[in-house]
Amino acid sequence: MQERIKQLENKARSLDPDVETRALLRDQVIRYADKFLAWLPGAPAYIAPTDNVPDSDDLSISEDPVDLMSALEVLGKKVDYSGVTMSSGHLAFIPGSGLYASALADYLAAITNRYVGVRFASPGGVDIERKLIRWMADFVGYPADAAGDLTSGGSIANLVGVVTARDCHDLRAANFSRTVVYMTGQTHHSIEKALRIAGLKECIRRYIPLDDYCRMQAGALEDAIRNDRKSGLYPWLIVASAGTTDTGAVDPLIAISDIARVYRLWLHVDGAYGVPFALCEPGKKILEGIERSDSIILDGHKALFLPFGSGTVLVRNGQQMKKSHDYGASYLQDIGTFDSPDEIYPAELTPELSRPFRGLRLWLPLKLAGVAPFRAALEEKLLLARYFYEQVKQIPGFTTGPYPDLSIVTFRYVPDYGDANEFNRKLNTSIQQDGRIFLSSTVLDGKFTLRLAILGLRTHKDTIDLVLEILKEKAIAIEKSG
Ligand SMILES: *Cc1c(COP(=O)(O)O)cnc(C)c1O
Repeated sequence: MQERIKQLENKARSLDPDVETRALLRDQVIRYADKFLAWLPGAPAYIAPTDNVPDSDDLSISEDPVDLMSALEVLGKKVDYSGVTMSSGHLAFIPGSGLYASALADYLAAITNRYVGVRFASPGGVDIERKLIRWMADFVGYPADAAGDLTSGGSIANLVGVVTARDCHDLRAANFSRTVVYMTGQTHHSIEKALRIAGLKECIRRYIPLDDYCRMQAGALEDAIRNDRKSGLYPWLIVASAGTTDTGAVDPLIAISDIARVYRLWLHVDGAYGVPFALCEPGKKILEGIERSDSIILDGHKALFLPFGSGTVLVRNGQQMKKSHDYGASYLQDIGTFDSPDEIYPAELTPELSRPFRGLRLWLPLKLAGVAPFRAALEEKLLLARYFYEQVKQIPGFTTGPYPDLSIVTFRYVPDYGDANEFNRKLNTSIQQDGRIFLSSTVLDGKFTLRLAILGLRTHKDTIDLVLEILKEKAIAIEKSG
């Protein structure tokens, strides 16, 4: 047996490279990353997925090792051939960015592999995550006893918010079908998903009508709640959007929070896309009232430019969040001797137990740059949207949707003759085929509509001017061909 153990040890040791091997591996990875970043500025914003379908054995797992060079070569060929989310011309959906300092932080987080769920395991790590939660709670205006968690993204953050709201209202399964949730047709689908996962599939949804700015009509919300109460139903949750994914509209948070307080409903604000705009002055104004909500979510991987996997949920009353998520286990009894029962630890605020040290990828960029460049970048994106809104109207044939609340602009081309929907579909396709920029489309009021989402870290005025030029060029070409 001892011989077998020795054999196994020798085999297993290849998982833990020595210092020379580490240097070799690290250098290759850094060279690869630098090459990617050097290629990025001119990289196409869009490449049709069918052009290069990754499908071959070199992605499969086998018993035999390959060297890093070959593995990176495969990665370059099969995965990293298109800029898409990282490029300046990516203006579709909600663009993602990825900060260099976050990548370095992820490296460190994986090397040191701190567990930051409880103070016992990493007091400093817990403090870092707390400071980040406090920083976000401060810029949304939440009180000192608010709590929050760094999640993998907005969907899980919404789930935590919904579950906390459900438990705060002490909803019982037997009554679910009499309980009512209020949202709009523009509410992100992850709310519907969260309701179902939280066991609330049977509760009644009311989709409150939108005004001309695609925002929830507060008056209609109040009417709906009143009617439902009169009918003996139990209204308990309002989901407001602070930046809808479709148009970037911010629901009237002051009016909605007034209604939530009068009728004692939980107000959850889905600000996955929009909440970080509270860091800049014009954004702060638009988001006024957000501090009066009961829970808020935001995505660091959207308007804080972090790599994917960075969400946050904040709950005004931290104890309520804890009540829904705390736990105990005999094998964890040692923790209790170090973690004071009066304090709330990250692991008590989430469905997760073991999770990565997510805070580091937000903490390091904030430390290295300070907050000012983030504020500047957000105000820049917001003003770029207003600039585009003014400019695109000047191009003959183009009309716009509502004035942008944040950094998404909706617009379309209205041809003199023929089907406008068909025209815009063609326009969208021809922009994608061109590849220099990448827009996406939606349907508003039954109309095929183009949308420009300005959120990329590398998207500046030159890109917006290029968009205007491409729109002009493509619209003329389609007019001529039709
Ligand atoms: C992106 C988004 C979500 C979902 O967040 P993920 O991080 O993708 O899970 C939820 N709500 C809104 C408004 C969003 O824009």
